[in-house]
Amino acid sequence: MDQSLLEQIRQSNNIVEVIGSYIPLKRSGSNYKGVCPFHSDTHPSLMVSEPKQIFKCFACGKAGNVITFVQDYEKVSFMEAVKQLAARVGIAVEEKPQTKIARSKRELQVAVYNLAKDYYKDNLQNYQEAKDYLLSRHVNNEAIDLLEIGYALNSFGGLKNHLLKMSINPQIMEESGLFGNNNQGMFDLFRERLMFPIHSITGDVVAFGGRIMNPDQPGGKYINSPTTDIYTKGKELYGLHRTRYEINKRDFAIVCEGYMDFLRLYSEGFVNTVATLGTSLTEEQISLLSRYTKNVYMLYDGDIAGRKAALRAGLLLIQKGLYPKLVILDEEDDPDSFLLEKGSQLLQEKFASATGLISFLFEDTSIQLTERDKIEQLVQTGRMMTDDISRELFLKEVAEVFKISESALRKRPATKTQSMSTPEKEQLLHSFWEERMLLCMVLQDKRVFMDVTGILTADYFLNPVYKEIYDFMIQHMTVDSSLQPAGLLDLTENENLRSMITELMLTDVTQMNLENILKDVKLRKYQQELKQIDQMIIKDHENRELSRQKSEILKKISILSKKVVGKTLT
Ligand SMILES: [Zn+2]
Repeated sequence: MDQSLLEQIRQSNNIVEVIGSYIPLKRSGSNYKGVCPFHSDTHPSLMVSEPKQIFKCFACGKAGNVITFVQDYEKVSFMEAVKQLAARVGIAVEEKPQTKIARSKRELQVAVYNLAKDYYKDNLQNYQEAKDYLLSRHVNNEAIDLLEIGYALNSFGGLKNHLLKMSINPQIMEESGLFGNNNQGMFDLFRERLMFPIHSITGDVVAFGGRIMNPDQPGGKYINSPTTDIYTKGKELYGLHRTRYEINKRDFAIVCEGYMDFLRLYSEGFVNTVATLGTSLTEEQISLLSRYTKNVYMLYDGDIAGRKAALRAGLLLIQKGLYPKLVILDEEDDPDSFLLEKGSQLLQEKFASATGLISFLFEDTSIQLTERDKIEQLVQTGRMMTDDISRELFLKEVAEVFKISESALRKRPATKTQSMSTPEKEQLLHSFWEERMLLCMVLQDKRVFMDVTGILTADYFLNPVYKEIYDFMIQHMTVDSSLQPAGLLDLTENENLRSMITELMLTDVTQMNLENILKDVKLRKYQQELKQIDQMIIKDHENRELSRQKSEILKKISILSKKVVGKTLT
C-alpha cells in the first residue's frame, strides 16, 4: 500500500477517538488514561498521547499507534485494521488488481472455509434426516440459520470435488485442514456429521466442529479442525463474535463447553454465552473474554468431570483477575438437557444461587478433595494473582471460609520470576543515558532526525538496542519523506521494539539540549575508539599508522571537550 495514503489514514484517525470508542479514556494532563485491554487490570495503566498519536501500557508494555491498536484489539491483520480505519473516516482503499491475485494466505484460507461453510449449509437443506435429527433435539430453523449449521455428507469426495469445481488451488485445499491424505490422494476429513462453523472474533469462519448424529458411528463424538494458518485451538471462543456486545452490555458472560449447550442457551435467551469447544479454558481465551467483562458464570456438565473442569477453569480465571462463579447442575444434567427438561426459569434461579469458587470448594463433597488439597489449590491460585489488592482480599476470604489463620496461608513465600532485576536494568539505561536522550529527541521531531542523520551514523550508538532503533529509523525515515515517527510502529512486528520506541517517544525532552547531547554521544564513541587503539598499540607498538590514528582521535576529543562545560574525561 502507498505510504502516503497510509499516513493520511493514520492522521485522519485521531488515536484518542479511536481508542476511546473501545474503552473509556480520561484526560490526565496532556495525555489520556484508560484501563488497558491487553492485560487484566483495574488500574488505568494505558496512556494515550494525542500529540504523538501513540499509546503505551505501563503495566504490560503493550504499545503502538492507532493502526496497531486496532490490529491487536480486533485481532485482525495489518491490512484489515487499515481498511477498518479508512472506512471509519470515509477514505477509499482500492485494492490493485495484482494485490487481489496475490492475496495473503490467510485470505485464501478464509475464502476456502467460507465456501465450505456454504457447501455444508446447502447439504443440510437437502438432507432431511439431518434436519429431522436437529428438530428432534429441539433445534429450530432460526437457530440453524443463525449459527449457519451445515451437514457433511457420508462421502470421501463431496467437499473436495465441490472446491475443485470452484477452481480452488489443491495446494491451498491441502493446507486447509479440511482434508486427510492417503495413497489415493486427498479425502474429506469431515463425513456424516453436523457441521458447526467456528468464527474468529471478526466473524470469519476459520474452523469447523463436526458432531455425529448416530452414537454408533465410528470416530469421536466431536471432531474439530486441526490447527492451521488461520486457527489455533484454544485461541477462539465459540460464539463470541456474535455475543460479545451482549456480554459487554450485561457485564457478565456464561461459559459452557459444547455447541449444543451454546445453541440451547442462546435460543433460550441466554445470548451472552460462549463455548470453549471441548478444550479446557486457556489463558488466551480468558484474555479475549476479559475485554468484554470480568464476570463469568461457569455452566458445565453436572457430572464430576464437568465440575472438575469448571473448577480448573474458575481457578485460572481468578488468577487472571476475573470473577468466576460456578453454576452447579445435578449429576445427570448438562445445560442442554436442563433447559429442555426444566426450562429457562429454573436455570435463572440456578444463576441467582451460583457460588464463588471458595465457598464451592468448601462445601463440595462430590469431587473428593481433602480439605488440605482444597486450601493448597486456592493458595496456589492466590500466589499467581498479579494484582496485590485482589490477592489480599482473596486470601483473606480463603482464611475466613476455611476458618484458618491468614498467616498460615502465607507461610510459603511466592517465587518471583523476573528475568532482570530493576537495579540492573536501571544501570544499563544509565550508562547509555546520552544515547537514550538523543534517540528520544530524534523520535519526537522528524526535522531533528534529519539533521542528526547528517552528522551521526548508527555506529555512534554503543548500546546495541539503541543502535538497532536508530538503524531502523534510517532505513525507513530517510527513504520515505511522508513517514512520521508514529508510522515506524507499523513497520515492525517486534513487540519489544515497538514498546521501546513508544517509551522513547513519550519521554519528556523539553529540558534537553541537543547540541550537548550530540557532543556527549560523539565523545563516548571517540573514547571507545581510543581504548581500542590503545589495546592494539600494546600488541603492536611499532605501528606508526596506529599512532597517527590515535593522535587524530585525541585531537577530535580535545576539540569537542573544550566545548563541553563541566565534563571531565577519564
Ligand atoms: Zn497492559
